[in-house]
Amino acid sequence: MATTVQGGAIRPGTPTLIDRFGRVATDLRVSLTDRCNLRCTYCMPDEGLSWLPKQSLLTDDEMVRLIGIAVQRLGVEEIRFTGGEPLLRPGLPAIVAAATSLRPRPTTSITTNALGLAKLAGALAAAGLDRVNISLDSLRAERFAELTRRDRLSDVLAGARAADEAGLRPVKLNAVLMRGINDDEAVELLRFAVEHGYQLRFIEQMPLDAQHAWRREEMVTGDEILSQLRSAFTLLPDPRARGAAPAETWLVEGYTDAAGGPAKVGVIASVTQPFCGACDRTRLTADGQVRNCLFGTDETDLRGLLRDGAADEQIADAWRSAMWGKLAGHGIDDPSFLQPARPMSAIGG
Ligand code: SAM
Repeated sequence: MATTVQGGAIRPGTPTLIDRFGRVATDLRVSLTDRCNLRCTYCMPDEGLSWLPKQSLLTDDEMVRLIGIAVQRLGVEEIRFTGGEPLLRPGLPAIVAAATSLRPRPTTSITTNALGLAKLAGALAAAGLDRVNISLDSLRAERFAELTRRDRLSDVLAGARAADEAGLRPVKLNAVLMRGINDDEAVELLRFAVEHGYQLRFIEQMPLDAQHAWRREEMVTGDEILSQLRSAFTLLPDPRARGAAPAETWLVEGYTDAAGGPAKVGVIASVTQPFCGACDRTRLTADGQVRNCLFGTDETDLRGLLRDGAADEQIADAWRSAMWGKLAGHGIDDPSFLQPARPMSAIGG
């Protein structure tokens, strides 16, 4: 494979998704739809958004072809299906089955709000899905309904149970704490998680909301969350190397997980302690655009190439070129930071 001069630097002729700083992306986040059936106040307005037009969405076959290119030509090892709400995509089990039949077989997971997971967990496990990440910001039904604008807490809890029973383990829970809204629930959420054998991760709220209402000074920081947790639990440093994982994890003394190992809790402090230096992610939107960073403003159109009849290797090289341009960091703390035009729900969280 030949080297290329790109962005004033020589892009090596390696098949992988390497960038100018030597990071290699092996973790692909695939957004399957920009639509969602919740309206979390920190993500989307009540009325929803103007959804992507149907003809611009990748078909299941197009999606599967791009996933195949990522795994077989670009060295992607791990695929996370997200959205929007990935369970809203009717072809999800078939897409998962196609991904898990690839060789080398990638590990697969979904990030979901779990509405409908109670019904789908078995089919997803049969398709080869390895595990799930379920978003759950409150265990109090009334608060959950206010926060998501839908009264569906019991469906989420049923979804988590079904995923666990189907063996989609470890079931991970993601929680975003917001000041004055649910920032008093850190301990309750962790107690619930460790008692059920789920693994909880707190995510710092990021400037990715459609309403552009995020304010740094209002954000609940990872440090604050940890100090709340330490008021009720003993947290020990996790001896396992963090690698490229976004969450820094701790062992929760006195508790075990579903597999009998030590229970863990994680904090994803994307804002206060960015981990861009170890980032190994590449992103594909539901309309076939590659993004090299959640916070990036550039996208590379693979759908156009695909529909113009490009060969797999040509598409693979456009993907490599997109990743080569990845910036060193997301720059949220930089005064010149500009929030990306697409909200989290349209990029794929
Ligand atoms: N619908 C799925 C779900 O609820 O998990 C997948 C998409 S959702 C955008 C993925 C994750 O992003 C959720 O855990 C959600 O809480 C989180 N999220 C959304 N907006 C966020 C923001 N502004 N900051 C931090 N996390 C956010």
